[in-house]
Amino acid sequence: MGFTDYSIIDIGLPEAGRYSGVIVVVDSLRQWEGLSTTGYETRKALAASILIDRLERMMPGVKEEIEAYDVVTPRTIHRQTNNPAGTPYGFAHIPSQQGLHRLGYASPVRGLYFASAWSRPGAGYLGAICGGYNCAKQVLREVR
Ligand SMILES: Cc1cc2nc3c(=O)[nH]c(=O)nc-3n(C[C@H](O)[C@H](O)[C@H](O)COP(=O)(O)OP(=O)(O)OC[C@H]3O[C@@H](n4cnc5c(N)ncnc54)[C@H](O)[C@@H]3O)c2cc1C
Repeated sequence: MGFTDYSIIDIGLPEAGRYSGVIVVVDSLRQWEGLSTTGYETRKALAASILIDRLERMMPGVKEEIEAYDVVTPRTIHRQTNNPAGTPYGFAHIPSQQGLHRLGYASPVRGLYFASAWSRPGAGYLGAICGGYNCAKQVLREVR
């Protein structure tokens, strides 16, 4: 698992003197499908408890400091973004689908372009921002 401690920068979310952090693990929508509301909440609580215990082993005392937490699953991301299988990163990051191997901006439909984590150069904020910029430049070139 990965843990990001955001206390090093002021992201403006928590009140002064409080800090936020994020634990990230690889996950799959399959683990969260077909559960009742209670089953889903129970599994989320179990996941939180296991991950916080792991964090406590890495950073003794951190558990005592946690005032509030939330668990975000691929199901949450699917609900919020409509991305298939709840992926925020588009196509899998394997060499054959990375960089120039990802979808280009122009589509077979005239006037329809792609700019997102699914297209070049790839996912993440930087990937989506660069993709949008490059796509806009291509649209402008073609319009002119
Ligand atoms: C919890 C989390 C943490 C992350 N952390 C980082 C990070 O630290 N650094 C980093 O670089 N990247 C991070 N990412 C990844 C990054 O957020 C994404 O790769 C990036 O936002 C993808 O941009 P996008 O424009 O392709 O899609 P999105 O940002 O998913 O935008 C798609 C938009 O389309 C809307 N939409 C979907 N379907 C429809 C429809 N039918 N009609 C109208 N609107 C629709 C959605 O509501 C959404 O607003 C993180 C993602 C998550 C979920």
